[in-house]
Amino acid sequence: MIRLPKIHEVSIDFSTLCQLRCVECSTSKGITHKGIVGKGQLKYSDFLKFVETNPQIKRMEMSNWGEIFLNPEIAQIIKCAYEHGVTLYCGNGTNFNHIDELTLEFLVKYKVEFLNLSIDGASQETYAKYRINGQLEKVLKNIERLNHYKKQYGSDYPKLSWQFIIFGHNEHEIPKVKELCKKYNMAFNPKLNYSDFSPVKDKEFVRRESGLGVADRKEYKEKYQKEYKAPCYHCFDSPQINWNGDILGCSVNKWKTLGNAFDKSIAQWEEGDIYRKLIDVLFEGRECTEELPCFHCPNYKKIKEKPLTQEGFDKYISYVPPALRKE
Ligand code: SF4
Ligand code: SF4
Repeated sequence: MIRLPKIHEVSIDFSTLCQLRCVECSTSKGITHKGIVGKGQLKYSDFLKFVETNPQIKRMEMSNWGEIFLNPEIAQIIKCAYEHGVTLYCGNGTNFNHIDELTLEFLVKYKVEFLNLSIDGASQETYAKYRINGQLEKVLKNIERLNHYKKQYGSDYPKLSWQFIIFGHNEHEIPKVKELCKKYNMAFNPKLNYSDFSPVKDKEFVRRESGLGVADRKEYKEKYQKEYKAPCYHCFDSPQINWNGDILGCSVNKWKTLGNAFDKSIAQWEEGDIYRKLIDVLFEGRECTEELPCFHCPNYKKIKEKPLTQEGFDKYISYVPPALRKE
């Protein structure tokens, strides 16, 4: 019998637009925009309605398919979240190339919990090999400005992590990135590469210097007997909501919507048939039908062979992001 807690957290995509063209990103390739996710940004008016309709939702992830700081209403939304007792964070990632001064200040003033900055290089040359159109100098300036506000407000928030996808072309910069993390008061957050683009070269160096003990996702699976990422649990911990209110469940769904969170409350959705079906299919191994995104998802093959478990869910929700870990 699966015991799932009531949903008190969601992930709302603040923007599916992005100014960068990262090599393996679905948004950069235009795949995201062709499907149900589309191009768009969360509106302040929808956000306000959502927090008023769902007072039990106390925490929100802001990022998924695009760059959140391109949302022109983000400063207003951050203030509104604070006034409604909702903690915001950016765990999936921001490229942090562009952010206006008011938003920088509001991130601190209204206590956004943490930001995971996606920076795969310690030099412009290395950084831009994957983060095409990105400018490292701008990112570092924005971090300095943010740290200035943190000092001014005497606040530790938002806490920061430096997410570094380890590639063959940037692995030699891991020690330098760790130094920069100390300089900017950021947690080092190494991530294993997810494609064949620029695979790691010196595996032993990567295992040791990254602190991960593994050099790629294959090694991770062998060592820990599980997948590096388990996106399905997301549906039951912090369901993904598109910028237009469409409920997507997990962060990889580009195929089918599961309702709309701006039309009815999350509590109502949680009591409905579609949520029950998701539990039946993913945890209980029932047959998946076409109305669920899983039917269209390459990941479902693995779930069919090995459904989700209570133990897996409990582990998933106990994960602490690097930015929030105590030293
Ligand atoms: S910054 Fe993020 S959303 Fe933008 S192209 Fe790169 S990976 Fe995609
Ligand atoms: S099987 Fe695919 S679509 Fe379904 S919850 Fe898992 S990752 Fe999402």
